[in-house]
Amino acid sequence: MSILITELSQDKRQNHLAFARRSYLSRIGGLTLGYVMVAAVLYQNDAPFWAWVWPALHCFVGPHLGWWLAQRSPRPREAERRNLLADHFFGGLWMVLMQFNLLPCVLTISLLSMDSMAGGGVRLVLRGLAWHALGTALGIALFGWHWQPQSSLLTVLACLPLMVCQPILISYIARKAIQRLKKQSLELRYQSQHDGLSGLFNRSHWEKQVRLEFARFRRHGESAVLVLADLDHFKRINDLHGHAAGDDAIRHFSAALSRVLREIDVCGRYGGEEFGVLLPLTSAHAARDVLDRLRRDLHTKPLLDQALVTASFGVVELSADIPSTEAWLRLADQMLYRAKHLGRDCVVVLGEQNAITVPAPLEVPVVAPAYTSLKALNDPMKLSRLLAGLDMGDVPLALFDPSDRLAVANPAFVKLFAVQPEAVSFGDIMRHCHSRQIGPRIVSDDIETWLRAADAKRRSQAQRNFLVDTCDGRWYRTCETSYSDGWMLLLLFELTDRNPHK
Ligand code: GH3
Ligand code: MG
Ligand code: MG
Repeated sequence: MSILITELSQDKRQNHLAFARRSYLSRIGGLTLGYVMVAAVLYQNDAPFWAWVWPALHCFVGPHLGWWLAQRSPRPREAERRNLLADHFFGGLWMVLMQFNLLPCVLTISLLSMDSMAGGGVRLVLRGLAWHALGTALGIALFGWHWQPQSSLLTVLACLPLMVCQPILISYIARKAIQRLKKQSLELRYQSQHDGLSGLFNRSHWEKQVRLEFARFRRHGESAVLVLADLDHFKRINDLHGHAAGDDAIRHFSAALSRVLREIDVCGRYGGEEFGVLLPLTSAHAARDVLDRLRRDLHTKPLLDQALVTASFGVVELSADIPSTEAWLRLADQMLYRAKHLGRDCVVVLGEQNAITVPAPLEVPVVAPAYTSLKALNDPMKLSRLLAGLDMGDVPLALFDPSDRLAVANPAFVKLFAVQPEAVSFGDIMRHCHSRQIGPRIVSDDIETWLRAADAKRRSQAQRNFLVDTCDGRWYRTCETSYSDGWMLLLLFELTDRNPHK
């Protein structure tokens, strides 16, 4: 915490120093031209030598001394304001030395006040004028009262460079400051609306767009589709490949979303690895096409080299019977939940006859580097031949993808687990076995609790061996091989001893 505070104050100090540096440069210019003006009046008044020294010290040493003090100060902005007050004070002295020559004196007061106004506002101007009066009073006390308000032509000419250059310089600095503020306010606006990791809109700004779209629908009847997307088994990606890989997946998924969507579509990071997409002027049917394309892209152009990352989508088209933005979001969330329940890596659209969308069969399995010995899996034909080669007679064998979908199973596995044609995931297979009391014996009344416990263990190690008994009294030694990209090979070797615990 204290480090953070120190860093913050360091940052602030740098800003203040930048302000002091700008004042330093403009003070060098202003005071040099100021000296030309004072020198003309001193020349006009035939002033003694010592009268030239005072303003010379102020004009040629003062700016550097002021900058040196500002640099050493813990509060450079305050130090710079003190420098401005010192300018006023010495300006008062100059006026006495110039015997109140009207044009240079008015110029001195107005230009110094301009500087103070730019550097600290009305308060600093008022304080500056007070110091100006003090300088004048001290000057009268030291050098006496002399009154010569007329300006010679030489003095008028000597005032011209200051009169012309100083206002331009101050306006230039003010303009730069305004530009800087504009840029900062744009940056702040961007930060308040966007998510740092994905670059998409953040949740609050995205939800604001959803509310606007809902209001547009109410007024003009323009249809829109809401999509909630969630990366599948993301915890596993983090656990197996590290948080940085997880962050990469989030970034790449955001880029993939932006790639397939139109400019008018609005994407946001809803939280964690959940995303929201608003598709204005779109039907649910068109949205499904886009999302199916995105889903295919996730398989053919994987987000990560080391793992296949899939996503599930819940889709709801806006209709008159959706009463509020919250209801719209809730429905999309329910569709997303249904997509997860169906085995992930799929799109569920509210109201579609076939809301149950069976994920596309494994067409082009993605192969991770750790899996390169099985590179042949890239070709579905080679895949089936490879697995035929692996098929060891009666040894039940199955390959699950990272979303736990059954990719391939040999006849022995299908028979043992009574795999139904509509079974998509490991969960589907086990639910069926549990409800029919066939296949492996599941020692739990609540299959969902059992599945959660199994899920926690399944890919927890690269290799897991354990015993399984079946409802018809056989025993198997089960061997689960979990690859670093999340794919898993399951083999079951039947034991001849009917009860290995004996
Ligand atoms: P499911 O398929 O059911 O969605 O499974 P899941 O593992 O994705 O489940 P869940 O949504 O509960 O887990 C989300 C995980 O995402 C939990 C959290 O550690 C991780 N996560 C959230 N935000 C970030 C992030 O910004 N970066 C990374 N690397 N991980 C994140
Ligand atoms: Mg998830
Ligand atoms: Mg999630």
